[in-house]
Amino acid sequence: MQTTDRYTLADLQNWAEIARDVTPPIRLGVFGDPVAHSLSPQMQNAALCAFEINMQYARFHIRPNELRAALGFVRELDFVGINLTVPHKIAGLTQIDMADESASRCVAVNTVRLHDEKLFGSNTDAEGFSRAIRSEFSIDLRDLRVMILGAGGGTGHAIAWQCALENCERLVLVNRTLAKTSALLDRLRPFFTEPRVLGPVARLEAVPWDEAALRAQLADIDLIVNATPLGMNPSDPAPIPARLLAPHHIVFDCVYGPSKTALLRAAEEAGARGANGLSMLLHQGALSFSIWFNREAPIEAMRSAIAL
Ligand code: NAP
Repeated sequence: MQTTDRYTLADLQNWAEIARDVTPPIRLGVFGDPVAHSLSPQMQNAALCAFEINMQYARFHIRPNELRAALGFVRELDFVGINLTVPHKIAGLTQIDMADESASRCVAVNTVRLHDEKLFGSNTDAEGFSRAIRSEFSIDLRDLRVMILGAGGGTGHAIAWQCALENCERLVLVNRTLAKTSALLDRLRPFFTEPRVLGPVARLEAVPWDEAALRAQLADIDLIVNATPLGMNPSDPAPIPARLLAPHHIVFDCVYGPSKTALLRAAEEAGARGANGLSMLLHQGALSFSIWFNREAPIEAMRSAIAL
């Protein structure tokens, strides 16, 4: 029997019956809200197929108030692992049994591995982001002045940590709710004590999400990252308008979708280079696969499955 397009908490509660005739059995999945957009199933199923692993990966629409119960159900099922996507990554950290260094550092989990009914959390977004920037733009984070839009979210936290670990030249955190960046800012400070940039600009700052503040920063920024969900709906506006962008900017939109997001259209209009989140999806997914199966992922099979 084929898997349905997406499962719910009610399905997990009644899993023995719901999944009884599904072949190969579902033993991996992604929890999100929304989740319909996720290309992880087609990418991970291609990887499972390439290695002839007899199981499949499915989508689960799990709302924020359902995460604890959903993780509780999979704990007792024969699952190998789960990916957490928007908006579960930060809440996920408090709902697992053990977090490795990548997850506890980022205060966000995107990969859960099950072992003996225990949930082990990791974060592969951070390293996946770094690999994506290198493959899309042939440049390392250490050479870049980076602005993260949505630095208060799970993905924004992971990206900020990766920038700090790779000692990027400069890091500017931007969030609609600025207070959500203050703990992160304090923890990142020790990474930015050495002077690297010429001129009066600070190496690490958090700024409010308003046009004047963004404009003042953008002259001293190379890479702009959208880590908000803006762009997931085709009608979403760009998180920052084309008039603030310049040809020297590189724009990375974590959002991926069938068409160009408004942010990538704005980058094009401003003569700036841009890329969507598909390569990050690939690299974070390959790292998740390696955590679950303790082997190198079949990255070319995964890449073709998402037409990258
Ligand atoms: P999250 O934890 O819910 O964080 C969302 C962030 O976006 C928060 O900082 C939030 O700000 C901000 N935000 C939400 N709506 C906004 C709006 N209308 N205007 C301005 N800011 C807004 O979500 P997440 O898990 O980090 O995911 C964020 C996005 O990254 C999603 O689209 C996800 O699909 C994408 N992503 C892609 C990949 C990939 O592999 N390509 C990997 C990870 C994530 P407040 O703090 O003010 O609420």
